[in-house]
Amino acid sequence: MLLEVDDLRVEFRLRDGVAHAVNGVSFQVEAGETLAVLGESGCGKSVTAQAVMGILDTPPGRIAGGRILFQGRDLLALKEEERRRLRGAGLAMIFQDALSALNPVMTVGAQLAEMFTVHRGMSRKDARGRAVELMDRVRIPAAAQRVRDYPHQFSGGMRQRVMIAMALALEPALVIADEPTTALDVTVQAQVMDLLAELQRSYAIGLILITHDLGVVADVADRIAVMYAGRIVESAPVHALYKSPAHPYTRGLLDSVPRLDRKGRELYAIKGLPPSLARIPSGCAFHPRCPLARDVCRTDRPPLYPVDERRGAACHFWRECLDG
Ligand code: SF4
Repeated sequence: MLLEVDDLRVEFRLRDGVAHAVNGVSFQVEAGETLAVLGESGCGKSVTAQAVMGILDTPPGRIAGGRILFQGRDLLALKEEERRRLRGAGLAMIFQDALSALNPVMTVGAQLAEMFTVHRGMSRKDARGRAVELMDRVRIPAAAQRVRDYPHQFSGGMRQRVMIAMALALEPALVIADEPTTALDVTVQAQVMDLLAELQRSYAIGLILITHDLGVVADVADRIAVMYAGRIVESAPVHALYKSPAHPYTRGLLDSVPRLDRKGRELYAIKGLPPSLARIPSGCAFHPRCPLARDVCRTDRPPLYPVDERRGAACHFWRECLDG
């Protein structure tokens, strides 16, 4: 197994209490597999990614429990220096906002080349050659010239390609892409997602794709983990989840996506807002918004019930949800 996250808990100490941003999250990623982690803003998906990458803001954040095994190594037991060496070479991340993730006063070529001089001990000339190759690989036109340009001279889509090139430079085994296309126009989004999916397949990397957008995951993910209020509430192979969700929150998300076969019908909207992670409702955290909620939902927190050998749903009434 490439990555195993087991009962991960992350807390943030705030002035008015403790926010339980990640509250017992477990999942696995195999080599060459794409796992989409889906949920609304503030559900804990980006914090989970930061914990795996070892870039959590501490304090105020702190890992309160659990294990993260990467290729069998317990990441939480490693020294900071060992984790730093793993970043880029073993695990890499693609951020949502390429403009703030890239250094504005260095050319993109110099930033890419630095990966090879620092981590691989290459000469500056060879590293620059590799930078051009990489830019070509992510289909940046006229890469040999553009290698001398600064981040602000690239369009949003091209900058995101530079981010992808940087993430793949050292051929990591696992890449985490945190909302990689959110800041882009719809047509550019599709091109960047296609490129990411193609590179994921050709490099056979494990990919964790974090998104709030169900539309971007259908064609690229193998499995989906749906997060709500710091927990995974449904986990399933992508086609099974789209065909018949087993959690009312997943069903709500699917019903709120515009579909051509439902022309003329009003779009569904999940009522209310996600809860504050410092004040998570009792029982099932989704109960204030759930159309199927009953008394037991307000008091008893549902475990992740096994729906079949490959999927689970944290709902007392998952059978009812599955039957539609
Ligand atoms: Fe809704 Fe109850 Fe299921 Fe929670 S446990 S999702 S409130 S039906």
